[in-house]
Amino acid sequence: MLSIIAQVPKPINRRQRLPRLTESKMAISRVKFITSIALSLLICVAIPDAYAKRKLFEAQMTVVAIDPGHGGKDSGARGPNGTLEKAVTLNLARMIAQQLDTDYRVVLTRDDDYALEHSDRTAAANHARADIFISLHSGNSFSQASNRSAVYYYLPFQGSAFKAASEVPHPSEDGETAVRWNSIQTKHRVTSKKLAMQMQAGLTSIWQPQEVTVRGIPMLVLEGADMPAVVVEIGNLANARAEKQLTDSQYLLKIAGAIARAITAFLAQKPQ
Ligand SMILES: [Zn+2]
Repeated sequence: MLSIIAQVPKPINRRQRLPRLTESKMAISRVKFITSIALSLLICVAIPDAYAKRKLFEAQMTVVAIDPGHGGKDSGARGPNGTLEKAVTLNLARMIAQQLDTDYRVVLTRDDDYALEHSDRTAAANHARADIFISLHSGNSFSQASNRSAVYYYLPFQGSAFKAASEVPHPSEDGETAVRWNSIQTKHRVTSKKLAMQMQAGLTSIWQPQEVTVRGIPMLVLEGADMPAVVVEIGNLANARAEKQLTDSQYLLKIAGAIARAITAFLAQKPQ
């Protein structure tokens, strides 16, 4: 005979069913919970809208400073047909910025036709906490016959005053040739040289068969930069052939692409 006796469920003893938490584990869980609530509140209070969130995101991005050489009454080199170096460098800087814009925060030291001191250019890069500084020029020779390209990194002056002045390819209009010894850039010399060589490799591919040289010289525009920094000289605008190339937007786009790729390759290797 089967007797069916209804089983009365036993009351659940929660102390037995739940895993036992030691006092210290419970304390940690409590702290984690309170911390997550506090962080959520902080984000809601401190970042009230999308604009602020974007600003926070931008602040964490790698910063590239591009310096279009010359500007304002300082026109730089002049082509046989009147093209001014200050216009070529600004066009090139805008093209490079456009190519890097999606991956980096790009800062131009000038975005129009106005004059800047050397120190203003590096101060703008330092203020933006830039990770890299590229100064653009296109008039590295006083001879119209020459149309060389070169990349310069900062090397402190070690010879006579006469030699230092003659080696600087771009003396400013006021003839300033002084070199300050305690420059900020000195501590970045090794990485700046690596950047210069990366830039040389990138430019050589489109500048062939002409050579792109790398040299260390005491350039004033670099000495205050607190990050890897180089000057890139794209040809010599005073040369008729160079002027024709540098006023061709397709050609300039190719140069901008090569510089942008060299910047990207350098930053990919740079320890964060
Ligand atoms: Zn120049």
